[in-house]
Amino acid sequence: SSSSSTSSFANSTSTTGASSNNRVINLDHGDPTAYERFWRQTGDKSTITIPGWQSLSYFSDVTNICWFLEAEFAREVVRLHNVVGNAVTEGRHIVVGTGSSQLFLAALYALSPIDSPEPISVVCASPYYSSYPSMTNHLKSGLYKWGGDAESYEKEGPYIELVTSPNNPDGHVRRSKVNRSQGFLVHDLAYYWPQYTPISAPADHDLTLFTVSKSTGHAGMRIGWALVKDQEVAKKMTKFIELNTIGVSKDSQLRAAKVLRAVSDSWEQGNSKESESFFKFSHKLMANRWKQLRLVVERSELFSLPKFSPAFCTFFNQVLEPQPAFVWLKCEGNVEDCESFLRGYNILTRSGIHFGVSPKYVRISMLDTDENFNQFLDRLSAIQS
Ligand code: PMP
Repeated sequence: SSSSSTSSFANSTSTTGASSNNRVINLDHGDPTAYERFWRQTGDKSTITIPGWQSLSYFSDVTNICWFLEAEFAREVVRLHNVVGNAVTEGRHIVVGTGSSQLFLAALYALSPIDSPEPISVVCASPYYSSYPSMTNHLKSGLYKWGGDAESYEKEGPYIELVTSPNNPDGHVRRSKVNRSQGFLVHDLAYYWPQYTPISAPADHDLTLFTVSKSTGHAGMRIGWALVKDQEVAKKMTKFIELNTIGVSKDSQLRAAKVLRAVSDSWEQGNSKESESFFKFSHKLMANRWKQLRLVVERSELFSLPKFSPAFCTFFNQVLEPQPAFVWLKCEGNVEDCESFLRGYNILTRSGIHFGVSPKYVRISMLDTDENFNQFLDRLSAIQS
């Protein structure tokens, strides 16, 4: 079964055998270690020192709705969105979270009607991010429950629709599907950054989620942010986080501020030998990986990839191809279970069934280390010959 690869976060990518072909390549999680080389070369520009006397208080700014939001972090969030042009920040409340995962739950809590006789349905078009159903149902809330594929959702009344764009797992740009009057939308824009997809316009939604995990690659910092139009929704999300963790690590917020600042600075100071821009680096890395992957897949009869259309990117000022953080690979022919097929070659992936679709599909991380990515390509090309 797939449970060994999907249920345990501790499942390591490390060596399990002596020869390199025995080594298990774990590309099940989207662990974003690919940008390590960039961050190594930034040195002091992305380093902070926190003295022992700092961050003692729970509070950051009691006049702000999100009273545990560090002002320095909020400033860098606004600045980065202005630099990239991927989201409107004017007229928005910023709510910081322990990853966008915590903000996802805070959003469900904040958007659920309190006086409803039954839980509100939470839907998303398939293939959907595999964590949505489990995060929604884990605590068997009386407020909300997983309602499945948005495409086939027909119930009357209020609902919450998750719009992930570009989408995890398949990388496509998305809009809401249900389009009825009583819908609340949560836009999960974890991958709406120029290294993954052409930036078409600043996102201008009611409730938008972002995370450092996929933008800068600092998943371990556990910092995400929500841009929220409605003051009452921002208050309820803040309340959820207060009840859940009494705020969000100040150390992490200060570190995130420094990292976001380094990203903005690196773009504004232009590309030079000493200081490469983060988005140029990450875009080039993704472009390289996708080019190599396409070569391997195109030579094979066994696999296929989604088709993407190039689009104008307002950030890079040119027409560019999407280059998603995941490969959404289809096993063609008579391979019915693509995940176990690839597991036979010691490549761990996540089956389409976790995303609400057929096991002929798997999701594969494109953000792992160079070593693992290259091993993966070698093995994939060896399968066809
Ligand atoms: N949303 C999507 C679409 C994701 O892919 C991920 C990370 N896999 C998350 C949310 C969670 O991100 P975080 O690390 O910020 O909790």
